[in-house]
Amino acid sequence: MYDAIIVGAGPAGLSTALSVWLHSVRRDYYPEILVIDKEKNPGEKKPCGGMICKMALNIFPSLEKFSSKKIRQVRILYRNRRFTVNFDDVVAINIDRHILARFLMQKIAKLDTVELNLGESIQHVNASSDGVTVYSNDKIYRGKILVGADGVFSIIRKEIFGYSYDLDELGVAYQVRLRLSRNTIDELFGDANEFYYGKEFSPAGYAWIFPHRDHIRIGVGAIASKIRGYDLRTYVRKLIMKYNLQNEKIIKEEAYLVPLSGGSKRITAHRVLLVGDAAHQVAPLSGAGIHLAIIAGLLAGEIISRCLIKRRRLSYSLKQYERIWNCLYGIELRWQRRLVNFLLKRGSKVAMDKKINNLIRKFAELLLGLTSTYDLIKSWIYTQFLKIIRGY
Ligand SMILES: Cc1cc2nc3c(=O)[nH]c(=O)nc-3n(C[C@H](O)[C@H](O)[C@H](O)COP(=O)(O)OP(=O)(O)OC[C@H]3O[C@@H](n4cnc5c(N)ncnc54)[C@H](O)[C@@H]3O)c2cc1C
Repeated sequence: MYDAIIVGAGPAGLSTALSVWLHSVRRDYYPEILVIDKEKNPGEKKPCGGMICKMALNIFPSLEKFSSKKIRQVRILYRNRRFTVNFDDVVAINIDRHILARFLMQKIAKLDTVELNLGESIQHVNASSDGVTVYSNDKIYRGKILVGADGVFSIIRKEIFGYSYDLDELGVAYQVRLRLSRNTIDELFGDANEFYYGKEFSPAGYAWIFPHRDHIRIGVGAIASKIRGYDLRTYVRKLIMKYNLQNEKIIKEEAYLVPLSGGSKRITAHRVLLVGDAAHQVAPLSGAGIHLAIIAGLLAGEIISRCLIKRRRLSYSLKQYERIWNCLYGIELRWQRRLVNFLLKRGSKVAMDKKINNLIRKFAELLLGLTSTYDLIKSWIYTQFLKIIRGY
């Protein structure tokens, strides 16, 4: 019987495995961990802009050297106005997802009691008082704890927690990868990631351009319940035309769902917990979830390790993960979702005068996970206050 079975070798699953192991061996316990992924090369097919926020780089500083672009500038385009926010330091990197997966898997490969089964799809799971059972195409595994790190279409979320999909909680993202020379990329984008807001860029969300070493990723995301009658491809084409890049080669076209609910109500059950997209741990304003998946994985791993070692009542111990997550990030993500709802409803009425630079900086920081929604709201109130007392 495995101590922990982790379904999914994305950033959430791999960082959970790493964390369970590290926290356990520190207390002289060598946990038997199984990580299963249906892909032979996890991350390779995953549609993603590839931006990783600073928060994750603080955890894995050596990731920076595998980046295909280091980001020191954010450009925000809104209602025909362009705001540039410069940072002194690297605030994010753009990276290929299979390189991120390889980086984490190489760490896992060194751990002798962690087994990584790739190319094996999980079909069905169940949990009872004496353990968890996981059914793959042709094998059955037994474990003490099950981690659902299996992404937005999580089988574990569906079978154990009984959640069904609500279109209002999901975003649809469509993205193309456009081959460009390094010089053109540097000339047009430098070290900036671009974010486009407003109805002309997305029917209910935003669009982005993230430069990589030899290509750029141009994408558009929108709340799934609000895209009826819209063709997201036309928004991406518009951005391609804006830069006059219509003759450049599209090397990949991809679309996928991203959870934008701001978090699930329950992410732990008896012997089971959810991490990453499976737990809707994604920032609704930016759709960024890699850094949150890593942080949630590290937290989940620590709690699982304590629970294995101290042999407390499992449901009680695993509940700690949900409680701590909610205090640290859950509340913030729910506030962010409220902000998204507000911007979708009233965004076009937000005044864009010259004195808004401070607020834009805060907004850029929020996109990069460097500040909280609460801080942004405080800045907005302060700007309104200045407006009143200075009379502009
Ligand atoms: C178009 C797009 C662009 C994005 N851009 C960004 C970005 O720039 N920055 C950012 O931070 N976030 C971005 N995101 C969000 C980000 O991709 C996710 O939040 C992140 O990948 C979550 O990691 P995860 O480990 O939870 O899930 P995933 O990365 O989805 O990993 C889940 C893993 O589980 C495996 N799996 C699933 N089902 C099974 C099964 N039945 N059996 C076995 N294995 C299974 C999958 O193969 C996969 O490897 C983007 C999302 C989309 C759709």
